[in-house]
Amino acid sequence: MRSASTGKATIALHSCAAAMQCWLVAVFCAVIGILLNSQVLAQSLQIDANFSELQLDRHIALLEDSSGNLAFDQVRDSDGFSPLGDAKPNFGFTRSAYWVRLQLKNAGAEDRKLTLRQDYPLIDYLDAWVETTDGQFRHYATGDRREFASRPIDFRDFLFPVALPVEAERTVYLRFATGGSLNLGLHLYDQQALFEALSREQLAYGFYYGGVAVLVLYNLFIFLVVRDRAFFYYLLYASSYGLYFGVHNGLSFELLWPTSPTWANLSLIVLLAFTLLFGLQFTRQFLESHNHAPRLDRFAQVLQWISLAMLGAAFIFPYASVIVPIALHTIVVTTVILILGTVGLLQGYRPARFFMLAWVALLFGVLAYMLKAFGVLPHNAVTHNAFQAGALIEMVLLSLALASRVNELQRQTLTDPLTKLANRRYFDRQLDLVLANMPRGVVALLVIDIDHFKRFNDRYGHAKGDQVLARVAEALTQGTPRGASVCRYGGEEFAVILPGTDADEAARIAESLRQSVHDHSVGEMKVTISLGLACADGRRFASTQEFFQAADKALYQAKREGRNRVISYDRLVPASGPGDSQS
Ligand code: GH3
Ligand code: MG
Ligand code: MG
Repeated sequence: MRSASTGKATIALHSCAAAMQCWLVAVFCAVIGILLNSQVLAQSLQIDANFSELQLDRHIALLEDSSGNLAFDQVRDSDGFSPLGDAKPNFGFTRSAYWVRLQLKNAGAEDRKLTLRQDYPLIDYLDAWVETTDGQFRHYATGDRREFASRPIDFRDFLFPVALPVEAERTVYLRFATGGSLNLGLHLYDQQALFEALSREQLAYGFYYGGVAVLVLYNLFIFLVVRDRAFFYYLLYASSYGLYFGVHNGLSFELLWPTSPTWANLSLIVLLAFTLLFGLQFTRQFLESHNHAPRLDRFAQVLQWISLAMLGAAFIFPYASVIVPIALHTIVVTTVILILGTVGLLQGYRPARFFMLAWVALLFGVLAYMLKAFGVLPHNAVTHNAFQAGALIEMVLLSLALASRVNELQRQTLTDPLTKLANRRYFDRQLDLVLANMPRGVVALLVIDIDHFKRFNDRYGHAKGDQVLARVAEALTQGTPRGASVCRYGGEEFAVILPGTDADEAARIAESLRQSVHDHSVGEMKVTISLGLACADGRRFASTQEFFQAADKALYQAKREGRNRVISYDRLVPASGPGDSQS
C-alpha cells in the first residue's frame, strides 16, 4: 500500500518536474528570443573611430506597407519593423511600398559625416527622412520618377548625407516604391571611403563606356569604307546596348536627360527593344540567314516585329505591364540568335565562330550574374558586373567577327565557286607578286587544259562536266607541293604557279598531274589534260604576260602533238639566253 502510494507520488512528482522543465525551457527560449529580437531592433549601428564603409543588409529593419498608403508619422511610431537578417533585399515586382529603418550611434570621439547610398538607381520613388537633431527629420523626396535635381547630391545612384555628432544617435527612414524590380542596395560610407570607392567606379565606367564608344566609332569608320550593312546594324546594336547599360547604371538620367523622368523610365524598355531589334537585324545580315536558314530567318523577322510592337506598347501601357513580357521576349530572341549562329557554324561559315564565341561570352556573364542573384556565387565586383562586362566582351568579339566576315568576303571574291580553287583575279595578282619576288630565283608555271571537253559535255551533259571540273581541280591540288597556287584560269583551263621550282622539278610535277588525272577518271567518264610549262629564271621574261604566253604556247603545242601530254616551252625555244621568247 505504502509502496503503491509512494510510487504514485514519485510519478506525480516526475510529471510535475517534466512539465516544469518544459515550461522553463519555453520561457527561457521566449525570453532569449525577445531579448535577441529587441536587441537587433533596438541596437544602433555603432560607428566607432575605425568605421569607413559598410554594406547595410544586416543592419536595417524593414516594414512592408502593402497598401502603399502609410505616412511617415504612422511608420515612425510603428513597431512593425523587423530585421532583414540574412535575407536578400530583392523583392522583384511588387505593389507594396517598403520602409527601411537604420539607427546609427556615434561611438567615437569625433563628429562624423557619413553618406548613405542606395546603389540600384532604378527606383521610381525614394523618400528619405534623415534625423538632423534629436527628433527632427529632414525629408528628401527623390527617385527616378522625379527630376534629377531632386537628389541631395548629383550622382547616378542615390546618396544621402547623414551627420553624426559625437555621442549622437540618429535614425534614418527610407521609403521605396517602384513599378520595376525593387532591389535594395544600401551602403554607408565615411567621406574618405566614399571618395575612394567612387573614383574607382568612375574609372571603371570611363573604361567601359570609352570601350563602347571606341567600338562604335571604329566600326562606323569601317562601315564608311567597306559599306557592308552588317557594320551599320552592329553600330545600331552596340549603341542601343551601350545606352541601355547607361540607363541601368543611372548615368543616362544623370548626363543625358536629367529633366525628363518620364523618358528616363521609358528609355529602359525602348533601348532594350531597340537592342533586340538591331541585334536580330545584325545577326540576320551577318550570317546571311536569308540564304542559309530561310525559315528561321522569317521567324527572326517576326521577332523583330514583336520587338517593335513592345517598343510601341511602352508608350501606351504602364512600365510594370511591359517589362515582364519584354524580359521573356529577350530570352526567345537570344535563343533564336544562338540557333542561327549554330546553323552558320554547322554550315562551315567561318565568321560564325567569332559570332558564337561572342554570344557565349555574353551568356557566361548573364549566368554568373544570375547565380549571384540566387546566392550560388558570392556577391563581388566580378559577379556583380558580370552581365555588363560580358556584354562589352561580346561587342569586342562581334567586332572581330565582322573583321573575319570582311576576310571571308574578300576570300570569296578570289575564289571560284565551282572548284573552290583560286580564280583568275587571284592568279593575275599572285603571278605578279611571285615574279616580282622570285623566291630562290626561279618560278615555274603550268597552264593546263582539259582535252576535248566540249565533246565530253555534249556526250554527258554540263552537270557531269561540272563534276569532272571539280574532280580535276582536286587532283591538281593534291598533286602539287605546298606553296604552289592552283587556280582556275577560266572555262576548263587551269594554271599552277610553282615558286622556287626549277624546270626539271616542274616537268616532274606536271607529268605526275597528267598521270593522276588520267588514272582518276571514273568508269566511262574519262578525261585527260594537256599541260604547257614555262620556267622563269633570271630575267628571262620581260613581263607576266610574256611568261604566261610562253606556257600557253607550250600548251597549244601539246594539243597539236596529240593531247594528254606535257610540253615545255624550253623544248619549243631552246634556252639561248634572256629575252629570247620568240618561236
Ligand atoms: P581541246 O582539247 O582542244 O581543248 O578541246 P575542248 O573541247 O576542250 O576545247 P574548247 O575550247 O573547244 O571547248 C571548251 C569547252 O569547255 C566548252 C565548254 O562547253 C566547256 N566548259 C567551259 N567551262 C565549263 C564549265 O564551267 N562547265 C562545263 N560543264 N563545261 C565548261
Ligand atoms: Mg580550252
Ligand atoms: Mg579543252
